[in-house]
Amino acid sequence: MESLLSLFSFAFGAIIGSFLNVVIFRFNTGKTIGGRSCCASCGRTLSWFELIPLFSFISLGGKCRKCKSSISSQYILVEFFTGLLFLLVALKELSFFSDLSPESVLGVVVGWLVVAILMVVFFYDLKHMIIPDSLSQTLFLVAVGNFVLNLFLFNAGVGYAYAHLTSALIFAGFLGLLWLISGGRWIGLGDAKLATSLGLLLPLSSGLSALAFAFWIGASVALVKIAHTRLSESQKRITMKTEIPFAPFLIAGFILSYFMQSDIFHISNLFL
Ligand SMILES: [Zn+2]
Repeated sequence: MESLLSLFSFAFGAIIGSFLNVVIFRFNTGKTIGGRSCCASCGRTLSWFELIPLFSFISLGGKCRKCKSSISSQYILVEFFTGLLFLLVALKELSFFSDLSPESVLGVVVGWLVVAILMVVFFYDLKHMIIPDSLSQTLFLVAVGNFVLNLFLFNAGVGYAYAHLTSALIFAGFLGLLWLISGGRWIGLGDAKLATSLGLLLPLSSGLSALAFAFWIGASVALVKIAHTRLSESQKRITMKTEIPFAPFLIAGFILSYFMQSDIFHISNLFL
């Protein structure tokens, strides 16, 4: 039973992932989400067997069947990681499928929605250096809905409200301040908006850990990028103005902290 539910969670995630790919590629391009997918190179409409998540990409060797041009690796990355994260969310929220209480099921639904939205934000921000407002707003609705349902339907208690609200305030305040003092050069206002929802989804202990992870990962990637640029022949200098999108780090930090229920600052006992 557990293995069946695990398989279902992964497969469901991979299918959602293949839909998210369409959203990432077509969002704000004027193209509709509907309509058959076609090769980005030769425009040939893809047949049904070329649209099976993961399998199609692997069996085609990552190349178009007709024009042999490479298919973006984003396809398989999004399908695989959405599947993996959907599985991990289900395992975590349902305690390895042993707890099917309404609270836990809500946890899975919210977790899956959050993963789907963050997957689009992650790749969209990498490509376009901007977080569409509609995505931040959808995430905000999910975060508020989760908070309200836990508080009023499942009586999560004052401690829950306090831990999640302070987390949201610190995320919003800290990133808002960075945005303000840097005049939008270090991080965008979109990052601060996204962060507020991410903060609300976590209790303060995990929230602070997520912020720390985000900055550590961001700093590591920036250092590697600087070293790489120094070594490359172009010798283009990386400055503070070199745009590195921040949302992917924020999302990575959030996901790490969510799964590990991290409390690197040991503050969760403050609320007990
Ligand atoms: Zn083609």
